[in-house]
Amino acid sequence: MNPGPLLELAGIRAGYGPIEVLHGVDLVLDPGAVVALLGPNGGGKTTTLKVCAGIQQATSGEFRLAGRAVNGVSAADLARLGVCSIPEGRGVFPNLTVRENLWIATGTGASLAELEEVAYTRFPILGQRRTQLAGSMSGGEQQMLALSRALGTRPTVLLLDELSMGLAPRIVSQIYDIVGELAAEGLSILVAEQFARAVLPIATSAALMLQGRVVRTGNPAEIEEELSTSYLGG
Ligand code: ATP
Repeated sequence: MNPGPLLELAGIRAGYGPIEVLHGVDLVLDPGAVVALLGPNGGGKTTTLKVCAGIQQATSGEFRLAGRAVNGVSAADLARLGVCSIPEGRGVFPNLTVRENLWIATGTGASLAELEEVAYTRFPILGQRRTQLAGSMSGGEQQMLALSRALGTRPTVLLLDELSMGLAPRIVSQIYDIVGELAAEGLSILVAEQFARAVLPIATSAALMLQGRVVRTGNPAEIEEELSTSYLGG
């Protein structure tokens, strides 16, 4: 039996004060899928993720999680329902140690011991650096820390914004390999990326976002082709 979408946006409108930036966004995330949200700067990818995380409220449209309407539900309550986001820029506290950064995530109900176990099992390098200040680690290690903090809360939906930002291509592909493993373990992942190529190998489908709307969804390679020839002059 098809369990239906895990997360669904239908006709979502949202914005900042009087300025509407999402003009009716439709998007579906199925269980275990990795949906790449692609498109040029300013198209509304980050705002879409913010709506999914409850950080930004939709002014109209329907937002459903596992078939249940969750319009107006706060970010904290969505986190309790299993929606976890890693914002653009990773959200790591540079002046806190690895361990202290993990401790911050205990606010969502996981214990520090659980968070540390998840982090150091998947990323042994973080175990070696548990007392190191996060800001003194490489960008890739900081991204591993951000992922660990998210995973420690045992989410069902992971929202990722521009994981590739500021990272060398080799590190980006390592991080996306890990994201692919998480999806294979059953996590459902929505990832906004300006650099489509980074996320393509692990995406199950892609959505092209332009000027506040998802204009096309489909096979990741086709969407990337359309993106590079039509919108980025490639
Ligand atoms: P980027 O990759 O640059 O983050 P994006 O596709 O994620 O682009 P958004 O960040 O969602 O796009 O931005 C969509 C539009 O909303 C842009 O025109 C942007 O200027 C505007 N916007 C974003 N955040 C705010 C804010 N806090 N206040 C006012 N306008 C905003």
